[in-house]
Amino acid sequence: MILVFKKDATELQIQNAIAKIESLNYQPHLSRGVLKTIIGVTGDDRSISEDEFNQLPGVEKVIHVLKPYKLSSREFHPQNTEIEVNNTIIDNNTFTIIAGPCSVENEEQIESVAALLGKVGLKFIRGGAFKPRSSPYSFQGLGEEGLKILKSGAGNYGLGVVTEVLSEYHVDMVGKYTDVFQVGARNMQNYALLKALGEIQKPVLLKRSPMGTIEELLLSAEYIMKGGNSRVLLCERGIRTFETATRNTLDIGAVPVVKRLSHLPIFVDPSHSMGDWHYVGAASLAALAAGANGLLLEIHPDPSSAKSDGKQSLNFTKFELLLDKLKIVADSLSIRVQ
Ligand code: PEP
Ligand code: MN
Repeated sequence: MILVFKKDATELQIQNAIAKIESLNYQPHLSRGVLKTIIGVTGDDRSISEDEFNQLPGVEKVIHVLKPYKLSSREFHPQNTEIEVNNTIIDNNTFTIIAGPCSVENEEQIESVAALLGKVGLKFIRGGAFKPRSSPYSFQGLGEEGLKILKSGAGNYGLGVVTEVLSEYHVDMVGKYTDVFQVGARNMQNYALLKALGEIQKPVLLKRSPMGTIEELLLSAEYIMKGGNSRVLLCERGIRTFETATRNTLDIGAVPVVKRLSHLPIFVDPSHSMGDWHYVGAASLAALAAGANGLLLEIHPDPSSAKSDGKQSLNFTKFELLLDKLKIVADSLSIRVQ
């Protein structure tokens, strides 16, 4: 439920409404816009009633939110959420490219990727140290050793680190090395992990499951936000359909839909959605044109020797060429690539 305040509502009326909400054991979520102040109310769906709030001084109207997600919904928070991390602001005026290898393999690999990202002026490096592989016989990642390599390589060029956390038991340990926690597609509905990430204050990049609807993605974001961590970045990474020519089907339409339904930033992962470097450029440009806030992109100094996902990884030359094209499109949209 949402309380919309009159334009001339006083601070005292707003504070009184907050006190009333808390006295009924619901949680208030204040959002001050340029034109309107609103308070989203969360609590047990079954007992919450509009009548308790209709008559409050300063309240213009009470809106019942039918969607099952609240904190991640645009109704609760009409302004776009901007996320500041590693001295970088992720918002609608910027297009943030998080690039790096699928897996952290060794120091030289991370050093060369980090040097390239530093050279072209990007702000974030990705790399998996705990890999959720479909087969238990595939490379599982270097574990904590990989995180040390990633953090130290990133540090040399002032880059923020984005890496996957597989389990709630690893949150503290991974948190020592990362700036942004990545929740992989397979873990979108791992509620124990989502709850653990709700209790920390670092941003979470939440990937959509190949089986997950947009509503389920926003409900998973809700788990993190309900715990008190509002810094959630969503990521469309392709869904499973009847099509087999690409690894997954990039649901590019999810970008404008999510932007309408939610205030959270949305990224696109062109690498895992297409599964083949030949298509990564087109998917990246489409993501920018569709209004995404950035990309999660796999690059590798020598994709043919990559320990995972070499087929979909761009080499450095192809990556720089793509970056040039993205900048041209971004310029025409008055968006800055970072
Ligand atoms: C990844 O980004 O390396 C990854 C494993 O992606 P996903 O969880 O989308 O499969
Ligand atoms: Mn990968």
